[in-house]
Amino acid sequence: MEISVGNSLRIGEVRCDVQARNWENVFMDPLGSLKNPLRIAIIGSGPSGFYAADPLLKSTEPLCRVDMFDRLPTPFGLVRGGVAPDHPKIRNVTKVYEKIAARDGFRFFGNVTIGSDLSIHDLRQCYDAILFASGTETDRHLNIPGEDLLGSYTATSFVGWYNGHPDYRDHTFNLDREVAVVVGMGNVAMDVARILAKTADELKTTDIAQHALESLAESRIREIHIVGRRGVTQAACTPLELKEMSELVDCQPRVNPDDLVLTSLSQQELEDRNRNRNVELLTEYAEAPPRDTTRTMHFHFLRSPIDIKGDGHVESIVLAKNKLVGTEAFQQWAEPTGETLELPCDLVFRSIGYRGIPIPGVPFEERKGIIPNHKGRVQENGAVVPGLYAAGPSGIIGTNKPDSHETSDCLLEDAASLTPCPNREDDAVVRLLEEKAIRFVSLDDWHQIDAAEIARGKVVGKPRERFTRIDEMLQVLEAD
Ligand SMILES: Cc1cc2nc3c(=O)[nH]c(=O)nc-3n(C[C@H](O)[C@H](O)[C@H](O)COP(=O)(O)OP(=O)(O)OC[C@H]3O[C@@H](n4cnc5c(N)ncnc54)[C@H](O)[C@@H]3O)c2cc1C
Repeated sequence: MEISVGNSLRIGEVRCDVQARNWENVFMDPLGSLKNPLRIAIIGSGPSGFYAADPLLKSTEPLCRVDMFDRLPTPFGLVRGGVAPDHPKIRNVTKVYEKIAARDGFRFFGNVTIGSDLSIHDLRQCYDAILFASGTETDRHLNIPGEDLLGSYTATSFVGWYNGHPDYRDHTFNLDREVAVVVGMGNVAMDVARILAKTADELKTTDIAQHALESLAESRIREIHIVGRRGVTQAACTPLELKEMSELVDCQPRVNPDDLVLTSLSQQELEDRNRNRNVELLTEYAEAPPRDTTRTMHFHFLRSPIDIKGDGHVESIVLAKNKLVGTEAFQQWAEPTGETLELPCDLVFRSIGYRGIPIPGVPFEERKGIIPNHKGRVQENGAVVPGLYAAGPSGIIGTNKPDSHETSDCLLEDAASLTPCPNREDDAVVRLLEEKAIRFVSLDDWHQIDAAEIARGKVVGKPRERFTRIDEMLQVLEAD
């Protein structure tokens, strides 16, 4: 038989491509052994990706090698691109991820988008298992009229913009207007409202992107309205985020005392410490005497947006008044009463949850916006897709850890039954990327970008000054 490049043979249980130069080992050594480690691709370098990588890299039986891909040249996902710049301690978790990245058997391939630069078919050639930890990179829609008017934005775009995410570098926000509405009561909504409320002096020593700092310094916003569909007890934000609103230099938080009248079910929910503390803080805001501040932050509860009005640009938002429905504490939901209120405003930021972006060749559950999986094993039409796994995102940074570990445990459990990839050469993927002329960013490359950003920050008194364009990041590497 004539064997040409690309032909595949099936011998025993092992399929082997003639491109694999070390195929001798394939026949000699079981999958997961020292000479024939399990080859795993992790897609996404956020918390879920790193927490999934950790047990895989620690495993000795089977022994694993992990290649982590990210579409950005920079790792850490939302820890870099989501966490607010005035929360530097939270970003310190990247030290844990750097330690994981330093383990034997780990490689980083930044600036590689899976689904376009490399297909799932490409990855299947070089990896025995593929684990998706690609996050939920887009916002849910309100599905109301006017959502696409100029002045109506997603939290993701605003957060990405102030954090210097390259996707949002060229977005603009009309901050020369006076009234902004933030829809949502979670921590991201609080981040958006707080950044809008802060003075340039409060932000200038953070690692906020310079273009955002300059724009926020010129902001004319005077009123920030935060709108939640349920009551004070059900606000999804944490007390820590809520408390920060009382520490703003030039903005006072205000709460309508009527919103603090609790039903008996909502009173029962105060047994939850966070909820209780939130209500205490909101009560303090309702009772505080007015301060002489340029900006005011109004909290609105039991309101849902139903219409954003304006002629080309946002001019007002119509809010339906809600009541809580349900017979059990912690199981209450909002239903409209029929009463509405129209609030004149210039800007709307929606922060009502996130959805994933489908990757070609990977099952996707459109309704939930996620890769369908059971305990991390990817499923299609209810059946497990062999060799594909998914982790995260779930809640806050730390809650991704158990979730990702569950996925890695399933992968390790399945190791013996995985079909070995045909191309088992260590540098198979490197050659593939080179063939496709993709300038991938290695871990060492990332360290150079990191050092350059920190050096730029030092000059202006910030912990780092981010590169906000991919070509700027790559230029740092070419300079060497
Ligand atoms: C705006 C915002 C602020 C937050 N702030 C906090 C906070 O202060 N504290 C806290 O504890 N939690 C916070 N969270 C929650 C926390 O950030 C998430 O729980 C966590 O980042 C989820 O991790 P992940 O790895 O699943 O996803 P992500 O962090 O989103 O990482 C996904 C990674 O996958 C990459 N990727 C996506 N698609 C592809 C592809 N096709 N090919 C290659 N790479 C791809 C992305 O570039 C990204 O790096 C915040 C969330 C948001 C949205």
